Amino acid sequence: MTEKLYDFDSYLKEFTATVVSCEKADGFYKVILNKTAFFPEEGGQYSDKGILNDATVFDVQLEDGEIVHYCSNAVSGDVIGKIDFERRFRNMQEHTGEHIISGLVHSLYGGENVGFHLGDDEVTCDYDIELNEEQIKTIEVEANKAVYRCLPVTACYPSTDELSKINYRSKKEIDSAIRIVTIGDVDCCACCAPHVRLSSEVGVIKILSTMRLRGGVRLFIACGLDAFTDYSLKHDQIKSVSALLAAKPYECASGVERLINNLKAEAYRANQLSTQLNEAKIEKIGKTDKSIVIFTCVDTKALRELVNKAKEKSGSLCAAFSGNDTDGYSFIAYSLTVDVCSLAKALGEKLNGRGGGKPPMVQGSVKATKEEIKAFFDGSLFFEL
Ligand SMILES: [Zn+2]
Repeated sequence: MTEKLYDFDSYLKEFTATVVSCEKADGFYKVILNKTAFFPEEGGQYSDKGILNDATVFDVQLEDGEIVHYCSNAVSGDVIGKIDFERRFRNMQEHTGEHIISGLVHSLYGGENVGFHLGDDEVTCDYDIELNEEQIKTIEVEANKAVYRCLPVTACYPSTDELSKINYRSKKEIDSAIRIVTIGDVDCCACCAPHVRLSSEVGVIKILSTMRLRGGVRLFIACGLDAFTDYSLKHDQIKSVSALLAAKPYECASGVERLINNLKAEAYRANQLSTQLNEAKIEKIGKTDKSIVIFTCVDTKALRELVNKAKEKSGSLCAAFSGNDTDGYSFIAYSLTVDVCSLAKALGEKLNGRGGGKPPMVQGSVKATKEEIKAFFDGSLFFEL
């Protein structure tokens, strides 16, 4: 069994060990050492990465109780292992932050941590209770207060007797020796992963978002450098938005709300004006016995109003198409003399469309160009509004 050097020294970056076995696999080598500082993927946390001599360790997995290093090259004899400590420290900040949050969810609201995922891009913690916005805020504030209290984070393997006197959180029944990780008076939990030495090293704990999950809640969190990176990215965004709106950073939301309301009012005004303009253009169309086909760019409601106006001009058929050659066109057709249902069917067949309705009006859409539509209605009078 490999000695786990990370168990009691999570800051060990470099170590020497002896290769117990090195087995060739599909394009890589599976290496087992007599001891290691590499933490394998376990308990929802991705593995450490690094090097063993000149071989890249790109993954570490637990297989049949053994810690297996996935290496780029073969290694043998005594080796020097170096872990990617930047990655490790980030994982330790995130993991310790998770413990602080889980300890608080437990002590403040009686919730149990039922899931944890510490990936490269996302960190999530699942709880078996729902948490409202106010509770989330409280947890976040208390978690950060625990960070600033510089609480010691310790790990130990208590005897069965000692263990029976400890009140600790545990996600599952564990039959091997139980490792207890304690963070001051905030949390006590069975856990196999490396953590920082002091809560203050977590830096910042931020709950980014929440999601309902199986009767409980999933929290998306960022701790330490991840939280700082998140803050910096969002700060840059808010700085740009603030400059664009000429609003103070803390007043951007009301600035955007005002902008959206203005846009809605302008869109309404533009729609009114284009309807008036279209009506004026339709007025100028003389009465005809030929079919009238109109091309425009308005919403369905306006299209219907337009057809209702224009239908008086044709003794045959009035059809209006709204859209463009790339996305296709929606249409409404009206006639008291032409079978509009057959027309809708023919449009569907020849112009890759669909639609329906009942006489005297049908509506639908076609995936065709203006020229193809014109060819379909050959002999009609065409108008562009
Ligand atoms: Zn843990």
